[in-house]
Amino acid sequence: MKLICIGRNYTEHIAELENEKPDDPVVFLKPDTAILLKKQPFFIPDFSEDVHHEVEILVKINRVGKHIDRKFAHKYYNEIGLGIDFTARDLQSKLKAKGLPWEKAKGFDGAAVVGKWLPKTEFEDVNAIEFSLKKNDNIVQKGNTSHMLWKIDELIEYVSKYFTLKIGDIIFTGTPAGVGKVVANDKLKGFIEDNQLFSITVK
Ligand code: ZN
Repeated sequence: MKLICIGRNYTEHIAELENEKPDDPVVFLKPDTAILLKKQPFFIPDFSEDVHHEVEILVKINRVGKHIDRKFAHKYYNEIGLGIDFTARDLQSKLKAKGLPWEKAKGFDGAAVVGKWLPKTEFEDVNAIEFSLKKNDNIVQKGNTSHMLWKIDELIEYVSKYFTLKIGDIIFTGTPAGVGKVVANDKLKGFIEDNQLFSITVK
């Protein structure tokens, strides 16, 4: 299976959406080995001094598809989750400055937190899901899928032009504002509305 991640899919300035919307979503992959094993702490890798949390809504693909039209995209997933796209920001910045791919900064072991899944049927509207991340019991990130530049169905249409989607693939749909550094002993808890979907400790 693969993890398909979307970069920069939210803006705080809703009124300016049209102006700020880039031409295409930013897409990158993480290997399946990036998934943080259940009940394991997240270990800050020794090659970074500045690992950031990015809380994101996840979508689990349940049908094989290629060139999926956005009209039919809703048939390709039936579970919604929440996770973290951990990012070694210092390494990413170095690689970006050189025009190099940033896989090492995003795809290292443990860099993908995948929380519990909820059936899509629990949501009245997948384009109005509220979610948040608490760090040591303070809310540090808060988002709503209504603020996505590209909605879930549009993302499925877009990424399936390039990659065949397979059962079990996970789409990380991008992070809202508030990303920040984690340090040892931080506790991170992710919520969709009042539902806690993961709790992890940083080491
Ligand atoms: Zn991200």
